[in-house]
Amino acid sequence: MNTAVERQAASQQAAEHIDILIVGAGISGIDAAYHVRKHLPNRSIALLETQDTFGGTWNTHKYPGIRSDSDLYTFGFKWKPWVDAPIATSDKIIRYLDEALDENDLRQYIRYQHKVIKSSWSSEDKLWTVVVEDLSSGETKHFTTDFLWMCQGYYKHEEPYTPQWPGMDQYQGRIVHPQQWPEDLDYSDMNVLVIGSGATAATLVPAMAGKCKHITMLQRSPTYFAPNPNSNELADTLRTLDIPEEWTHEIVRKKILLDQEEITRRSFEEPEALKAELLDAAREFLGPDFDIDKHFTPKYRPWQQRLAFIPDGDLFTGIAQGLATVVTDEIETFTKDGLRTKSGEELKADLIVTATGFNLLVLGGIEFDVDGKPVDLADTVTYRGMMFTGVPNLAWVFGYFRASWTLRADLISELLMRMFTHMDAIGATVVTPELRPQDSNMQIKPWIDADNFNPGYLTRGLHLMPKQGDVEPWVFSQDYWSEKDIFPAADLEDGALRYT
Ligand SMILES: Cc1cc2nc3c(=O)[nH]c(=O)nc-3n(C[C@H](O)[C@H](O)[C@H](O)COP(=O)(O)OP(=O)(O)OC[C@H]3O[C@@H](n4cnc5c(N)ncnc54)[C@H](O)[C@@H]3O)c2cc1C
Repeated sequence: MNTAVERQAASQQAAEHIDILIVGAGISGIDAAYHVRKHLPNRSIALLETQDTFGGTWNTHKYPGIRSDSDLYTFGFKWKPWVDAPIATSDKIIRYLDEALDENDLRQYIRYQHKVIKSSWSSEDKLWTVVVEDLSSGETKHFTTDFLWMCQGYYKHEEPYTPQWPGMDQYQGRIVHPQQWPEDLDYSDMNVLVIGSGATAATLVPAMAGKCKHITMLQRSPTYFAPNPNSNELADTLRTLDIPEEWTHEIVRKKILLDQEEITRRSFEEPEALKAELLDAAREFLGPDFDIDKHFTPKYRPWQQRLAFIPDGDLFTGIAQGLATVVTDEIETFTKDGLRTKSGEELKADLIVTATGFNLLVLGGIEFDVDGKPVDLADTVTYRGMMFTGVPNLAWVFGYFRASWTLRADLISELLMRMFTHMDAIGATVVTPELRPQDSNMQIKPWIDADNFNPGYLTRGLHLMPKQGDVEPWVFSQDYWSEKDIFPAADLEDGALRYT
């Protein structure tokens, strides 16, 4: 084999063809596979997954207490009832996904330890050629596919985000990021300091409080927390009626979505009243003398970042019981024994946990090209936050942040099923989003409106993300309550999708 052309020809020969290739076997990949099997049983599918098991986020995160911060009635699939308490630990989520795979006979389609490296579209062949590293054998494999369904999540599973602070090298204790939690870490005799106050810190602190010497949560700025019982009264009532779990799931899901819609509306229309309610709820747990203003009153509007749900107020309970302390300050430097804050407080710790978030990863770090021209997603405009101008036969599942991620995975799956059926009906095999003449004066905006939603990992990586427009179908609103009507009604012949 001598020339590049010959090598390419050889690899094409060895390529395995899959009609619809799904990247990732997390909750989105499983949802995608379910929809194709149910609605398009004649299409072949495979799920390529880097890890050696399914579950994505719920498999790679092992830190103490790891749990959802959404209720599983809406974070779970529309098509599989959730029958437990609303907030679930990762092992319960994995069990649910495991059952979903078995009940729908999906396990056979997953290829583990298959890491997608590169993908090239050929307009001549109307195919993607996908280069995959088989991590078990070190072999490079090639697949061809008509359609790539990207369910690879949104962050680097291998490399968490840890800011660099002065003096980190002189610290003599242990530094751990929750995304890389050592399973044998014994912290029972340690003073622990958690940096951050997002959902991860809010899970870790109550899970470790009482199991280590003492735990301190150090936050630069406060987060809103919503303490609620980890139960659902309506679900409990419906279960006494002995009706099918499918009904309970659907009814409870609808009720939760209605309640969340109301909270979202209020967060925009009456943020001060909502804020006061959240702070009152915190006060009930922490007592009148606790400095709520300093430690639990964020500068942003409720919902501008994800509202962290704390089941049964467990974070507040740990603080009220003296098992955990919260410090609101900035880090000046790490020291030999811990760190010093800008206001001069010395915080000693044997273990520092950096709950500082993710590194955004666009499309799984895979190199894409279309007819040899590299794809830079930042140069594209998104079709409904799921496809990209100039990129044929590729969809990406990017879920909701304010509502459960999976609600959007379901909407995308349903729209794609409709799109594939439409393409079959008109005899098309390729679909490419493209701006129409009437879109020429459209305002091009960042992927996410920073005033609407602005967590650190998105702000840090926004320049890498596709753009959105200000008119349909180029809007990416992150609003389930409008998209739940817009997606099913989407006109697939509005000129924004070119079929060939
Ligand atoms: C700790 C934590 C808690 C969360 N809690 C919630 C919550 O309660 N509610 C909520 O709505 N959202 C939550 N999220 C967001 C969460 O990531 C999503 O809701 C959801 O789990 C994402 O599922 P996914 O399948 O799209 O992606 P992931 O779970 O990220 O799975 C993607 C899979 O794709 C694989 N993959 C990636 N790149 C490649 C490649 N190149 N080749 C092959 N395979 C690849 C990965 O190995 C992974 O298994 C949470 C996130 C974290 C980190």
